Amino acid sequence: VVLAAGACRSGGDIPMVDGPLAIEVRYPAAEPVAVTDSVSVWGSVGSGRATLRVNGRRVPVAPSGGFAAFVALPAGDRPALELEARLGREVARRTVPVARAVAGDAPAPHPVPEPATGWVRVRRLPDPALDSATLARPVFARWTPGGALAIPLPQGVLLPAEARAGDAIRLRLARGVAAWIPAADAEPAAAPAAAPVTLRALRITPGAGRTVVTLEAGRVLAGHVEAVPGRLRWTLYGATAAPGSAAAAGGVVAGAELRDAGGGQVVVDLSLRGAPLGWRVTWVAGRQRLEVREHPAPGLAGLVVALDPGHPPLGSTGPTGLREDSVTLAVARDAARRLAALGARPVLTRTDPLPVSLDQRLAVAEAADAHVFVSIHVNAPGDGRPPESVDGTRVYWLDPRTLPLARVLKDSVAAGLGQVPVATVQSSLAVLRATWFPAVLVEGTALSLPAREALLRTPQGVAGYAAGVVRGVLAWAAGPLP
Ligand SMILES: [Zn+2]
Repeated sequence: VVLAAGACRSGGDIPMVDGPLAIEVRYPAAEPVAVTDSVSVWGSVGSGRATLRVNGRRVPVAPSGGFAAFVALPAGDRPALELEARLGREVARRTVPVARAVAGDAPAPHPVPEPATGWVRVRRLPDPALDSATLARPVFARWTPGGALAIPLPQGVLLPAEARAGDAIRLRLARGVAAWIPAADAEPAAAPAAAPVTLRALRITPGAGRTVVTLEAGRVLAGHVEAVPGRLRWTLYGATAAPGSAAAAGGVVAGAELRDAGGGQVVVDLSLRGAPLGWRVTWVAGRQRLEVREHPAPGLAGLVVALDPGHPPLGSTGPTGLREDSVTLAVARDAARRLAALGARPVLTRTDPLPVSLDQRLAVAEAADAHVFVSIHVNAPGDGRPPESVDGTRVYWLDPRTLPLARVLKDSVAAGLGQVPVATVQSSLAVLRATWFPAVLVEGTALSLPAREALLRTPQGVAGYAAGVVRGVLAWAAGPLP
């Protein structure tokens, strides 16, 4: 069954590797794995001519010497995989203990919330292990402790505490609206003199490629922005406003209306002259500020394309040791060359093998005023899933306006790599939370499968992935705007 569907166009030209017999296992590693009755195992035996058995069961060896299989785990608390490779009269054996993640490792059930009182300031403590982009990012509140993402809270915002549960704290945003953050990200603060904050003086200022909507506000507020066809809705919490305040049209904004929704919520409804490319909320010099970006002119000329070579830190490793972060950097560099030749302005969020945080990657793209952000990855299965489960091309997205980009990239990267276009998947991965530009994350193919790893080792594999990225961006930039 292994690779039956994937004995793909690219499978025929895996270069033969015929080194000495040596068993290397890339997965499972020493860390506990969350598995039930079967486990993925992938690695190399050093030669494409060797044969391999895992717990007595024959596992195919690719011409590269790589293998990947999903095998039954022996019963017991400390199961092990017995690998036996043969090449001619030589035999190599290796025992791989599987550290099973036990039920006790599961997160504890939520403690019962206890009431809390007083105000807090949301802020992240300085930490020498974190870069400045990570320290500056908003604190993402969640609807339940550690649960689904709610809204980003800007650092410095003052909010009343409602409840505590374990190491989480619930903050009231408005009547009937509350969200949780880690208690470590909040410090006690004096109640503000003015609560709620009165918002006034709605202003619209058109600029090059963006329109700025501002409101006079006594201090920074929590808020969020939703895109609905033809409109943007900007909700601010802990605020009140005089009714019926409106501002004249400007730039991409055809009109704006300020509305007190009651209970501490103020809504700014913006009607737009076209779909926005993105937006950004800041608090500058006593004003809440929402910048709304227009789509650039169709085509690649002048388009700033942020290419994000996934990892390090972390990242997966293929059966014969090809690292995800070296594949993603090679693909991003190749795609950047192609985009520059077509008149676009590519920006790489990482240019060497050193680790770059997710927030720093977004900060680089934002500083460059990127029009679009494409994170480049290759896949490996999570614990308890077979290697083939991540074959094919998947593209992850979060905001619905990014879905057209995700769709074209799924098809173009799949075509470039000779893969099956599997799915576009909604996800709240950190890089997908960007709002200033559409951001998607591409998992081109499965690095954990020997045939795919061998393809990605070749210049053709890297070029195929890169050309697929470029064709997708080109189709998105040229196509009818959403
Ligand atoms: Zn990755």
